[in-house]
Amino acid sequence: MTHHGPPDASRAPRYTGIRTFARLPHVRNPEAVDIAVVGIPFDTATSYRSGARFGPAAIRDGSTLLRPWHPPLEVDVFAAQSAVDWGDIEITPGNAAKTMDQIAAGLGELLAQEIIPVVLGGDHSIALGELRAHANAAGEPVALVLLDAHADTWDEYYGEKIFHGTPFRRAVEEGVLDPHRSVLAGMRGPLYAAADMEVPREMGFDLIPGDELRATAPAEFGTRVHERVGDGPVVLGFDIDVLDPAFAPGTGTPEVAGLFPHEAFAFLRSLAGMHFRGFDIVEVSPPYDGPAQGTAMLAANIAYEFLALSALARLA
Ligand code: MN
Ligand code: MN
Repeated sequence: MTHHGPPDASRAPRYTGIRTFARLPHVRNPEAVDIAVVGIPFDTATSYRSGARFGPAAIRDGSTLLRPWHPPLEVDVFAAQSAVDWGDIEITPGNAAKTMDQIAAGLGELLAQEIIPVVLGGDHSIALGELRAHANAAGEPVALVLLDAHADTWDEYYGEKIFHGTPFRRAVEEGVLDPHRSVLAGMRGPLYAAADMEVPREMGFDLIPGDELRATAPAEFGTRVHERVGDGPVVLGFDIDVLDPAFAPGTGTPEVAGLFPHEAFAFLRSLAGMHFRGFDIVEVSPPYDGPAQGTAMLAANIAYEFLALSALARLA
């Protein structure tokens, strides 16, 4: 039986080959695929710094050092599941509405085959297309666990309804996202008004501001998320700007005083045992990254955490 995975690094040095995520084979045939890394290089729904269209390529570049064994979670990430790099989904620069349809169709193809997508963004608007695909495949609204400096539940920007700060309001309106089973965590930075933090809560979300999150033990966070989400379909989202811009400067709307990388990894690992239908890492803007590509490497390792969570769920 076909099992896709990276080549043996003791024979082919890690920097050789055509760049794919974690050196996985680039495969477009859904047969014998359990999990697929998918790029969505769309960034014309950004409000400040653009450049996330180059996120998928940079994250792939930052992923060459990923190895099969994940020590903290004690799992062989690539033995437990057949993994490929699907390549990128077609998008339309400058047309967010059309792009959301393209994303929903592109991911729908994978979800119909019960393949778990690990999306590399792209600005955060793409989450709307992803949630449409997931809800359609699940036959019900899905839950979201989100780590982000922003709740992304605004109504509009410059009159635009599909923007990188609006996907979760649109998704709730469309009935593809269930706020009552969802958790938004890590929100920080100056807002427009005192009531801003209450808006997502009034929509039904559980919101954990950044300071509260940092004071929360990972195990406690894991329990809170698990209880909130329950057994229904759920996806996991990670906006790179939840991390401190000292570590992840390459992003569209940086906010100071964010999570340290080891804190973010501990929160992600606290979700071991949950069965996510999909994942995304978004808002990586390589033109603003440091000379050593630290943001891209972090993003690649976050995607690797997703693969580890998925491997554990498959083995359970
Ligand atoms: Mn976001
Ligand atoms: Mn954000």
